[in-house]
Amino acid sequence: MSMNIAIDGPVGAGKSSIADEVARRLGILHLDTGAMYRAAALHVLRSGVDPQDEEAASACCEKANVSVRYDHGVQRTLLEDEDVTGLIRSGEVSMATSAISRWPAVRARMVRAQRELAAAADMLIDGRDIGTRVLPDAPVKIYLTATPEERARRRYEQNREKGDATPYEQVLQELNARDRQDMNRKTDPLRQAEDAVLVDSTDMTPEQVVDAIVRIVEDVYGKQA
Ligand code: C5P
Repeated sequence: MSMNIAIDGPVGAGKSSIADEVARRLGILHLDTGAMYRAAALHVLRSGVDPQDEEAASACCEKANVSVRYDHGVQRTLLEDEDVTGLIRSGEVSMATSAISRWPAVRARMVRAQRELAAAADMLIDGRDIGTRVLPDAPVKIYLTATPEERARRRYEQNREKGDATPYEQVLQELNARDRQDMNRKTDPLRQAEDAVLVDSTDMTPEQVVDAIVRIVEDVYGKQA
């Protein structure tokens, strides 16, 4: 059986960057499931379909061929044969993603694809429903969070480094709106699995968070080579 580590948490908890580093330390792959939902949302937007329209958005996603591949251990996300990794991080795509990921038909396809990927390789998988739906039997489950203000501050700083001057207040507002939508949807809302370990990174450095998660993994799987 492959080694599976589930990391869930709200927007901007640092899941992607932390998961990248933990996976590197453990010598396993990192699957960012949010990127898969984002690629499907990009397809919906490009098709001129309203993400809020369940029937139309679900039908559109049914036709979206989303896949991932690894380039020197780094995930690339594909829509058909196009590498869309660099196109799926905009605010517009983020909000559309949160909208389409409410629809059960969209989720069912993604969950199936993610389970297949998890069965095929040792993986650390991050998302919103990994510990609760995709891999309910994962031996290690982490719920990674921080206060909304701290998550928004980190996102704001990252944006500025990339030359994006979105005001802090707007970043915080969008983060809260997306969390509300992800936590209140009917199908597989974001929540901490009962057997997940809570890691609150509000007062931790990224290195401390990585160390803490590696220790939790080693407690279960033993030290990796
Ligand atoms: O993790 P990221 O912020 O890139 O995820 C984008 C959106 O995709 C989330 O706001 C959420 O709506 C959706 N998502 C999800 N289930 C997952 C991963 C992401 O619903 N497993």
